[in-house]
Amino acid sequence: MKEAQDIANRVYENMPPTYIPMRNSVFYSFAGSVAEEENASIIVGGHINGDELTFRDATRSFFRLMQRILWESSDLLRLRKVRIITPLSRLRKYQVVKKAVSLGVPLQDTWSCHRDGTRHCWECDGCLSRIEAFNTAGISDPLRNTKS
Ligand SMILES: [Zn+2]
Repeated sequence: MKEAQDIANRVYENMPPTYIPMRNSVFYSFAGSVAEEENASIIVGGHINGDELTFRDATRSFFRLMQRILWESSDLLRLRKVRIITPLSRLRKYQVVKKAVSLGVPLQDTWSCHRDGTRHCWECDGCLSRIEAFNTAGISDPLRNTKS
């Protein structure tokens, strides 16, 4: 029991406070179910460069194996060769912000906060990461510049 707790302590030592065990495994299993129901051919993940350094379930190996699991789990997904892609995985967060602006993404409608609520707290890891990304990109965040 103590050995198991020691292992857990070592693993969690380097995890952000917002870490949720096996989150991506759950999300991609759910996405596979939706893909089968909706006849989708691609499952798109929004992972960015650096996620794979922190999360075991954000590595190329994970996505390759997850796709195999989806194909083993569903004849339809296998026959349709449904793929998992992560088009942002080579970009840092500030580069994603720049790309979003170039594509006209309504960034005022995006959510980064890790807390519940109707407004960003601007204190949690998600909010601080957003602030840093917009600052590094040299782009004004439409959410931080509204008075509503
Ligand atoms: Zn927040």
